[in-house]
Formats: sequence, structure tokens, C-alpha cells
Amino acid sequence: MEPVRFRPPLSKQRYDYVLSFVDTYKPKKVADLGCNECSLLHKLKFWKCIELLVGVDIDEDTLKLKKHTLTPLPAHYLQPLHKPLTVTLYHGSVCEKDPVLLGFDLITCIELIEHLETDDLERMQDVLFGFMAPQRAIISTPNAEFNILLSNVPRFRHTDHKFEWSREEFQSWALKIASKYNYTVEFSGVGVPPPEHESVGFCSQIGVFNKNYVESEESISIKKQQKSVYNTVFHMVYPSIQDEKFLQKAVLNVALYHADMIKNSLLYSHFRKEGKGTAETDTEPHEEESTWPFGLQIEAKNENKDQEPFIQGDTVYIPLEAILAISKVKELCKSLNDLRSIIAGNVTLSSDGNAIIYPITLEDDYDNTDIH
Ligand code: SAM
Repeated sequence: MEPVRFRPPLSKQRYDYVLSFVDTYKPKKVADLGCNECSLLHKLKFWKCIELLVGVDIDEDTLKLKKHTLTPLPAHYLQPLHKPLTVTLYHGSVCEKDPVLLGFDLITCIELIEHLETDDLERMQDVLFGFMAPQRAIISTPNAEFNILLSNVPRFRHTDHKFEWSREEFQSWALKIASKYNYTVEFSGVGVPPPEHESVGFCSQIGVFNKNYVESEESISIKKQQKSVYNTVFHMVYPSIQDEKFLQKAVLNVALYHADMIKNSLLYSHFRKEGKGTAETDTEPHEEESTWPFGLQIEAKNENKDQEPFIQGDTVYIPLEAILAISKVKELCKSLNDLRSIIAGNVTLSSDGNAIIYPITLEDDYDNTDIH
């Protein structure tokens, strides 16, 4: 029998399952227990709803090796998030209580429980559902019934696995926990078996737990007194526009980018009109430009004459009103005065302070014989 292969790979299917769950429930605080190489956290950091992302693993070396995958990219500084995102990695065991994991909307344990000895599993379930008590939890573990379809599985799929459960074993464990800690649980999975072996079920079985109660403030404050045991390996607050200095940088970037686009579009039209009929290749009749080149749908080109960019002598004027009319700028910057004070010092402004001015240089002369 041909061994089963998954496309996309099974691990990606598990992550995709979590991501689609996040997309549906929009949790703000998410933790991944047994995060290993931080692959799931890396994907989760792009989800806008998440404000706090935490990973926990007992393997400190792997955390230290992979933590760089969670540092912000240059793009995060150029286009800061709307809400701050904090990412923290802890070295610690899921069998130990630490108040840093209180109050989470979602906690995931992807292919973790099968690495725990029986007594550790019991401790972990009490820590997860009794202490951390997240609003939702996702637990995935191998479905042992699927193993007959995999090649080279002597006893378990991995040498570190302490057990692998059938669907019945997993579901009876999960239902017992759900009842003990006042959760409901639903079962699902990823890694669909071939049609002729449908009866074995998914390759990875998944339990999704949902908390049925609201914890009292008193209970939470007692838990918060628990001594912290996890060690922080990585802590990063991503740039966001809630921070004034990142907001100003973002306004500056987006405003100057659009000012440059408007200037180029204007110069393109200007030199095209000036060179009308002079180029040999220029056989098309010229009409008033209705759209702007370079793919710029200029929102500023509207009824309001104050917003019209123009050329006077050898200077281009881009009214600040035109920049502010661009939705991306408007999202970040409320008033003309704010815009003026942020960009002043980085560009030359007209004498009345209402327009960015650019001198026209020889390099700006668009030769329309080059335009295709
Ligand atoms: N969740 C990861 C993923 O989906 O990519 C992979 C999980 S890996 C198979 C199991 C992880 O659990 C390992 O990184 C291991 O170090 C971690 N682990 C095992 N026992 C643990 C414990 N008691 N506390 C925290 N992490 C533990």
C-alpha cells in the first residue's frame, strides 16, 4: 500500500486550522504551548486582531535559536500596526502555573500532549483548564488509528511520544476534562484519509474547548498571586501608530510617497502636453488626461480646486489638501495642521505653508517618445 502523503503538509494543515479559527473568533490574547520553533506564532503575528502573542516551551535552546523569526521586519516600521502587538516567549513547562498565562482568549497545544508522561499530562490539564482557564483552547494530537496508512511507524510516530490515542481514547479524555472544568468540547481534525480508508478518521485529531462560565474577579486575583516560574526568552512590542513617534513616521512615509506620485503624474502630463505633436511616434490625438499615469488613481483630483496640484514656472505645487484627501493619509492624520507640522522640516513648503513645493529639474523632463 502506498503511504499517504499530505498536500499541503500536515503541519501546515494544523496551522491553517488554527489561523482560520483565529479569523473567525478574533482573539486578542493568544498563547501557543509547546511552541517549539515558533512556526505557528510566526504566522499568528500577522493577524490584526491579536494584541498579545505568547509562546511557551520547555526547550530553551530552540526558543533562543528561533526567536529572531518573531522580530519586526522593516515593513513593520514603515507601516506600523494600528494596535500594538506584544510578543513574548517563555521558557517553562506547561505542567507549572504562571500568572503570565491568565486571561487568554485562545490557547493552542498543537501536537504537545503526546510528549507528556501520564502524571505530567494530569498536571498540564489542571494548569491549562483549571488555572489558565482560557476562553477557548485547541488541542491536537495524532490519531493512532491513522498509523496503518503511514510508512515506518514502529510503535509511535515520534520517538519522544509517550502515547498515541485512538479517537475514542482522545474523545473520552477530552470529554472528562470538559466536564470537570466546565468547558464544552467539539471534535474535528486535519489530514483527510484516502476515500477507501475513510473509517480511520483524520491523521491529526483536534479538540476545540469553549469555556462555559465567566470567572470571578476574586478567583482571578487569587491566581495572580501565584509565584511566576517562567523565564522570559524574548519580549518585543511591535511598532504601532498608538506610539506618537511611529505615527509621525507613518504619516511622513505615506504623505511623501503620495506627494511624489502626484508630482510625477503631473510632470508626465505637463511634458506630454508640451511635447504635443513634436515626436515622430506621437500619432495619437491628445485629449485632456482623465486618469493619471503610474497606476495612481488620484483621489485628490476632484471638484475642489484647492486640492488641484499645479505647476507655476519651474515649481510643482502639491496642496496639503490634496495629500490629506488620500484615504491612507486621512486614516492616520486628522487635520491639515497635524499634517503640516509632521512633514515640515522634511520637505519644502510654499510661503503660505499650504503646499509642498518641488523645483522642476532637467531629470524631470519626461521624453514622451519613451512612453509605451
Ligand atoms: N507545537 C509545535 C508545532 O505545531 O509546530 C510542535 C510541537 S513539538 C512536536 C512538541 C513541543 O512540546 C516541543 O517543542 C517540546 O519541547 C515541547 N514540550 C514538551 N514537553 C513540554 C512541557 N512540559 N512544557 C512545555 N513544552 C513542552
